[in-house]
Amino acid sequence: MENRIELLSLKCASCGAGLSNFQNKNDVKCDFCNSVTRILYPVKVLSSSNATVAETAKFDNLISIMEKSMVAGNYKEAYDYCNKALEIAPDSATLWENKAICCFWNKSMFEHISNQAAEIVAYLNTSKSIDPNSTTYDNTSSSIANNLFYGSLFLYKATKTYYNQDTLSKVLDMANNTKIKPLSLNISGEEINIPPNYIVKIMRLFEICYNINPQTEYLKFAVSELSTKRWIKPNTPMDVQKKTQAKAKAIREGRGPFKFNTYSEIQQIKKNYSTAKIINTEFSLNNNFDAISTRNNYIQQIKTIEPNYQPLTLEIQKKPCFIATATMGDYDHPIVMELRLFRDTWLLNRSWGKLFIKFYYRFGNFPAILISKNRFLKKISYLFIVSPIHKISRFLLKR
Ligand SMILES: [Zn+2]
Repeated sequence: MENRIELLSLKCASCGAGLSNFQNKNDVKCDFCNSVTRILYPVKVLSSSNATVAETAKFDNLISIMEKSMVAGNYKEAYDYCNKALEIAPDSATLWENKAICCFWNKSMFEHISNQAAEIVAYLNTSKSIDPNSTTYDNTSSSIANNLFYGSLFLYKATKTYYNQDTLSKVLDMANNTKIKPLSLNISGEEINIPPNYIVKIMRLFEICYNINPQTEYLKFAVSELSTKRWIKPNTPMDVQKKTQAKAKAIREGRGPFKFNTYSEIQQIKKNYSTAKIINTEFSLNNNFDAISTRNNYIQQIKTIEPNYQPLTLEIQKKPCFIATATMGDYDHPIVMELRLFRDTWLLNRSWGKLFIKFYYRFGNFPAILISKNRFLKKISYLFIVSPIHKISRFLLKR
């Protein structure tokens, strides 16, 4: 792009780690979490035609400081100067774009999810309404949407894991009546306790990303997740409670294969719990969220752009990527989740891909059973099947 203002400092939009070697690039991959951050370059601000000469001098000065702050990664300061400049020129569409960029960096992904990116959406809408023919708007809005999507995808994965562990810790807590430290997510060095409806908010944010920038990939991921048993047939809170209490009682009474006096025994319990699928999470505790109609709604939206789009049926979707699941030992392992995303957004859009999936679901179950029972086969399968396919899928999805 012409006249691009290069940045001196950049953070990973997903995990907050500092990034390097991003000069002259559009995307940069994080060494820590593997997420790709799309670089949000400051937008060249066009001078306001309505301003007086004295105001123009002040305006140019404010813009200059704002730009320098953005380049240095100091978005709090940049945001303040952006606001001061907006007092002089509230009709500057490019300023509102910069304000949206500053807002993206000033808040954590956790906050964006909690407030459903409301501020960012508002600033972008203001910019668009002032100048519907802006030459920079598309790039800014699509970059912000991209970062919001991958940032929330990162937290989605982490939250799924968190809920599994959280339910487990409650079970253990009830069983031996001691306080076990509740597990909480560490986001950008901050310990955050995740409220139960948080996962629903992440799901809704995928749609908000789509509204900012209609990439069907965003909604396809949501549809693929909403097609899983966990979302479409949620346990009621009562079921979860009964199950965990029953399990806790069983452990207390000495039934079941585990006692837990030592660390290694607790690890053993964790292992057995996850394989025994006791941890049926409290994922869908939010009663206001109707997964099936949300899923249908997303499918309709995708079809307006891709009329031939065919989501997996709920039945097929219940079958996981079983070789990957057997190898990694967990349906919700990040690699397994990414392979599902690959299946639903890339493979399924190709006719040979659909054939392959049919073939796979017909014959893949037998090797999966063998793999799940044998540690050596798990290693072999990881090295020669799952890991190479995972790498190829990342390449094809350009992540
Ligand atoms: Zn990262």
